[in-house]
Amino acid sequence: MTAALDISVTKVERSKLNEMTLENIPFGKYFTDHMLEADYENGEWKNVEIKPYQPLLMEPSLAALHYGQAIFEGIKAYRNAAGEAFVFRPLDNFNRFNISAERMQMPTVPEEIFMEGMRMLIDLDSNWIPSMPEHSLYIRPFMFSSDPVIGVKPSETYKFMIILSPTGPYYAAPMKIYVEETYTRAAPGGVGFSKNAGNYGASMHPTAMARKAGYDQVLWTDAFEHKYLQEVGTMNVFFIIGNTAVTPSLEDGTILEGVTRDSAITVLREMGLTIEERKISIDELVREHAIGQLKEVFGTGTAATISLIKELKYKDYVMKFDTDLWKIAPELKKRLNDIRYNRVEDTHGWMYKI
Ligand SMILES: *Cc1c(COP(=O)(O)O)cnc(C)c1O
Repeated sequence: MTAALDISVTKVERSKLNEMTLENIPFGKYFTDHMLEADYENGEWKNVEIKPYQPLLMEPSLAALHYGQAIFEGIKAYRNAAGEAFVFRPLDNFNRFNISAERMQMPTVPEEIFMEGMRMLIDLDSNWIPSMPEHSLYIRPFMFSSDPVIGVKPSETYKFMIILSPTGPYYAAPMKIYVEETYTRAAPGGVGFSKNAGNYGASMHPTAMARKAGYDQVLWTDAFEHKYLQEVGTMNVFFIIGNTAVTPSLEDGTILEGVTRDSAITVLREMGLTIEERKISIDELVREHAIGQLKEVFGTGTAATISLIKELKYKDYVMKFDTDLWKIAPELKKRLNDIRYNRVEDTHGWMYKI
């Protein structure tokens, strides 16, 4: 990039931090003092500003509310023991954001606006990155169509924004999971690989049904046979079978390519496991469970890092696990957190310093 990016900054007069503490705050409920906002008009991004966090003014005809051109990302910033702030693999999220944008017929966001805007915003609100153990600052970049026009066509205007939310430890109790055979999250040719808002909207009813039946989440299966495993809730899924870690492969475009998934693959390999990215069916899982070879099952994602699965129900077959005996998932979680909180050397170049 040649021309320096012009980001105007308007600061709050008084920080909300004066009235609150960051200890043990729930996920996604509190936001920092500032936000980033940019407009796409006439084929270019303009009005890039950082300003006090505030409500948006919009017309009821706002295109995103009607036709769902809306995408987002989820990233985290961490503070190390020396007080320095780092973001975990934000370039991967930036690249994925633009993959989502293209699938939803939205403009891509230039790296300068996404990365430098994010860096400036976090730097300005850096007091909001908690220093308590297992706390972090959740970063939510998002984009939505903003034409005030009802009519099914790609919007001509869009808004790109970044908001920040400090968060306490995400206590993820081991989950009971229901293998979904009625509803579908994603089909080949669909939008499963993009992080668009509608994927989440569509998952809420099936998840509510699973909750009603006593489960925490669903394990999504393929759209045709409901046999091939995709993801668990809004996380990627891993199965430890013998000494091999198996995770569903990406070629069908039905799986969100998680940054945590990729990090887990790298770290599991370093731990000496064999990694297989391939199709895996529920029948194979049941077979391996029956002969005692299905050792561990867990989900991966930015919010919880690693979520253990203590029970999987498929038809009348129930697989139960004593997660207290597990070695691999807890070790993986520890290693990922050691990298994030800068307790070990960052040998992969994953940490982006603010
Ligand atoms: C965001 C997301 C994930 C996890 O991705 P990370 O980059 O690891 O946070 C997995 N599955 C779905 C459906 C998601 O939306």
